[in-house]
Amino acid sequence: MALYRRIPGAIAVITLTNPPVNALSCTVREAIYETVKRATADQEVKAIVLCGANGKFCGGADIKEFSREMRGPPLVPMIDMIEESEKPVVAVIEGVAFGGGLELALGCHYRIAHSGAQVGLTEVTLGLLPAAGGTQRLPRLIGVPAALDIITTGRHVSAQEAVRLGIVDKVTDSSAMEEAIEFAKTVAGEPMGPRRLSLWTAACPEDLDSLLEGALVRIRQRSRGALAPVACVQAVRAAASLPFAQGMKKEQELMAYLFTSGQARAMQYCFFTQRAAARWTTPSGASWENTKARPVRQAAVIGLGTMGKGIAVSLSRAGIPVIAVETEQKRLKAGRKAVNSMLTRESQKRGLAEAHLGSISFTLDLRKLRDTDLVIEAVFEDMALKKQIFSKLSSVCRPDALLCTNTSGLNIDEIASAASRPELVVGTHFFAPAHVMKLLEVVCGPRTSPVAVATAMQLAKRLEKIGVVVGNCSGFVGNRMMRPYTEQAYYLLEEGARPEEVDLVLEEFGFAMGIFRVMDLSGLDVGWRSRKELGLTGPKLPPGTEARSRGGKRYSPLPDILCESGRLGQKTGRGWYLYEKERVATPDPWLQSFLEDYRSRFGIQSRRVGQDEILERCLYSLINEGFRILQEGIAASPEDIDVIYVSGYGWPRHRGGPMFYAWMVGLPKVLDKLEHYHRTHPDIPNLAPSSMLRKLVARGSPPVHQWRALIQQHSSQL
Ligand code: NAD
Repeated sequence: MALYRRIPGAIAVITLTNPPVNALSCTVREAIYETVKRATADQEVKAIVLCGANGKFCGGADIKEFSREMRGPPLVPMIDMIEESEKPVVAVIEGVAFGGGLELALGCHYRIAHSGAQVGLTEVTLGLLPAAGGTQRLPRLIGVPAALDIITTGRHVSAQEAVRLGIVDKVTDSSAMEEAIEFAKTVAGEPMGPRRLSLWTAACPEDLDSLLEGALVRIRQRSRGALAPVACVQAVRAAASLPFAQGMKKEQELMAYLFTSGQARAMQYCFFTQRAAARWTTPSGASWENTKARPVRQAAVIGLGTMGKGIAVSLSRAGIPVIAVETEQKRLKAGRKAVNSMLTRESQKRGLAEAHLGSISFTLDLRKLRDTDLVIEAVFEDMALKKQIFSKLSSVCRPDALLCTNTSGLNIDEIASAASRPELVVGTHFFAPAHVMKLLEVVCGPRTSPVAVATAMQLAKRLEKIGVVVGNCSGFVGNRMMRPYTEQAYYLLEEGARPEEVDLVLEEFGFAMGIFRVMDLSGLDVGWRSRKELGLTGPKLPPGTEARSRGGKRYSPLPDILCESGRLGQKTGRGWYLYEKERVATPDPWLQSFLEDYRSRFGIQSRRVGQDEILERCLYSLINEGFRILQEGIAASPEDIDVIYVSGYGWPRHRGGPMFYAWMVGLPKVLDKLEHYHRTHPDIPNLAPSSMLRKLVARGSPPVHQWRALIQQHSSQL
């Protein structure tokens, strides 16, 4: 609702009240209408101050209402009514003014912000555009280039930047409310015409067309098929070239187009599922609601390699003191240097004072971990080494200390078996670079206790990461689903495709990088090492094993051959591509002739592989594994799988995540295609459709949020 009160000085104060962020729900909009009308009609009132309860102006539209039929007064005429008021309306921006909240403030005649406030037109992050006049008023207020940046990125703008750009009129360190009331008194009675943004003309640079074209090119590259940022540019073009009323019409048309697109639905789904991941539960009845996390006052990281460094930085950035442990002096010194310079960069970037960082001490002595609450092991991916460390930690650390492993796929329970307190062993699977990537898979072994899960999930929150609870199996959720996807890519090369063809299809779908470019970036030796460990190649491979078959199933030795010939990716200047200039991938004629030789050696008839086949075989095999994961209870819900893929694997947000995408495509179609590819390639095991997929199709393909009820909880591995 919106509360109305009259205060001395002939000022009406209207306070938006809808916790937690005063979203513009139907009731709030109705109340704004009523109270503004009341204030404008009241002879005693000379000026109006519009603010939000609990130190927050307004977080924007109420997203929950998007899926229902629109009720109550729409935003556009409401904001127009405020702008048309003859009495000055001053917005008090405390906390946040995002989306519809900023659009509401732009309809006011003045804006006064607290120095800690943030503003932004965030709609693009939900697959929409600011359609309550935001795309028309902001360019008129601050000019086309700055508005274009804010509208197309949805970024949060600090109060300091907002005043510099002219979005707000004044910023204060003291009470924005008091400042606004005093200010309102000084402008009461003045004509408001010049303050109405709808009457302004947007300041345009002379080269408007090339500015907008340039923006479109950059946006198409960055947003990889997302419609909303492109529509935002079109709306800003309308603001720059059309009268306000026509611009508003264009804004509405573009919004209608986006609103009914699957992309907006997918992005809103991502918004809700990301929040839902924090509300974890296990079949035993433990959950985020009934399990208390242990406090983490001091943490330790073992191993300062690629991952350990980033994990140490994340912990310190969250204000947690860290002890970092290495094996030898040289590595310790290198680790310390790298961590310190990462922290300096981080604190500069985020404007963090050193006092806010947790201290980091560096040691070779594991005994220093006597008092730590939580240890994260990030040594080489080697079971024997990890077990040795967990056994040592058991004798060194306090009995209640949580022992976490950053393994990317080893059996958590086997690692836990080496510890004296297996119930306090949990997987904390960070993603590289660990101080940047948002995802944290919290891996639960069969003996992991609820308190260990709760503490790891609480840690994720403190590190500003998205924690998702998953079960224990080889590769957990994310890496396990990557395997069939990667294998399909190898098979496609065997059959006639080229790496650049496969990558192009995947990048056009929306991945930041195709799978071959990803492998070249992370190093082909990563997978090679694990295949050697599994005995699929290298010295452990039984003599006489057929080159293209393992355990009676199809196997592609292509990546092994590349590694054996020293092609490890970017780091060796060649992998699936050639890197003559650092990091620039170019197709390699050598690879082309190597593939031709390979095919003729194994009698494979090369054929032209179509784009649809590339996309379907790669994505549907990944999705099929997702269904198996659901069936086995390794993930609690399809939503959790989608959060993992969107926040950790570069799955395009506007496609919702693999399970949501499968539902959007149509489960019968996915099933049909998998059956078709399985018939044509019976030797590829993971193309056989999972029974979970069949079951869902048989039940009429219910929407994703209903799948959870169909998953047999008794088989849950969580
Ligand atoms: P890395 O090879 O870069 O670093 C491992 C570090 O551990 C080295 O600095 C080594 O000196 C140190 N170390 C080895 N034995 C030690 C001991 N006994 N005591 C203290 N330090 C010791 O490895 P990484 O890439 O950082 O991977 C670490 C773990 O994280 C692995 O389990 C890996 O599977 C997992 N992981 C890696 C990635 C990735 O992209 N690199 C992503 C997710 C998870």
